[in-house]
Amino acid sequence: MSTYNIKAPYECMELKEYKLSDFIPEFSEFRQSDDLSRFGCENIENNLIRLEKRGKIHFQNRIAICPSCKSHHAVKNGVYDRKLIFLRIGEQICTVQKYKCKKCGKVFYTDLSSLVYSNSNVTLPVIECIENLYQIYGAGLHKIRFDLKQQHNIEISHQSIENILLNSNYEFNYDNWTYSGYYLFDSLWVKINGEWNYILALFDVKLNTLVSAKLVESEDSTVIYNFLNESLRNQKKISIGTDLKHEYREAIDKLKVKHHFCKFHVKQMINRKFKDYFDKNSLNEEEYTELIDLKQDIFKALDAKSLKDANKLRDELINKKYPKNKFTNKLIWKFIIPYFKKLTTHLENSNIPSTNNKIENIFQKVFPKHIKRTMKIEQGLLSRFMLKLNHWNIKNEKEKNHTSF
Ligand SMILES: [Zn+2]
Repeated sequence: MSTYNIKAPYECMELKEYKLSDFIPEFSEFRQSDDLSRFGCENIENNLIRLEKRGKIHFQNRIAICPSCKSHHAVKNGVYDRKLIFLRIGEQICTVQKYKCKKCGKVFYTDLSSLVYSNSNVTLPVIECIENLYQIYGAGLHKIRFDLKQQHNIEISHQSIENILLNSNYEFNYDNWTYSGYYLFDSLWVKINGEWNYILALFDVKLNTLVSAKLVESEDSTVIYNFLNESLRNQKKISIGTDLKHEYREAIDKLKVKHHFCKFHVKQMINRKFKDYFDKNSLNEEEYTELIDLKQDIFKALDAKSLKDANKLRDELINKKYPKNKFTNKLIWKFIIPYFKKLTTHLENSNIPSTNNKIENIFQKVFPKHIKRTMKIEQGLLSRFMLKLNHWNIKNEKEKNHTSF
């Protein structure tokens, strides 16, 4: 029988609870589900392992795959230091495992692509956090910076935040939707480097969602036709509502879709035409009253509650006595009568809205004027727009169930 002297580890008998992982680094991943969520790393790929070695965060792959020959046979081959910025723990110098492929002999690094872009120190959860804050606060970079410091222990410059937002490659997810066939179309003018550009947007009236949006340099009818045609490929095409621009008219007619004008814009245009005429001509009391009556009759026809009423009011308008001159002739015979169908489409089908308010409201909410002026470059413009749009769509998604159309 032999006896053993078992040495007690006196030097580590302080009031500290040791875990297996304190002795064997490889086990530390088992206690990290909590850490992972705190640092925002819970979405890193299964193959990427985060350990703690000598007080430093260390990254390695579960299975190191050679990017050159795709071999799974590799040996560890030293580490390199990399500065990374995490949620909660802020900036950290981490070690990253290097490997050598046993088949082709090439040296390669741990695949960090599920954690950070190769040209950046800022981890993806932080970028996501910045994008979310931007969606909430809009252009308030100071507020975003303050919030990052307060809530997430991250010190990051305005310029870095700006760069992250400008490079944000958020894309609207257009796929896998079946649209209703009822749409509104509008464009937003934005000045980029002193030049006017246009954001074209198509909106589904029934689903209350954006179908697509695109930044273009010109607003001519071919550009618009191509945008609509691509956006609605293999989709139902019943009607599209717009304001009165003739480029829209040409594009939508070419698309062979029912086209309707926004009633609000029509009335605005008519009011403007009358005002111009009154300003330029000195009229007597009687002429003036007759013209005001004519305007009221036109508005009555536009506001009719049924197609039958609208057509009746249109016929009355044609037969009525009003001052016949260049102005009234042009208004009635070049605009109201030829386009009467486009002006009353909403009476044919209750799915068709009488105005373009819905899409204009989105533009206003998503892109207030003060933001427009801060835009610098094309890429940033669209990515910001998409971020805001996404936020609008998420909020909208929640409200959707409570709204009927
Ligand atoms: Zn290899």
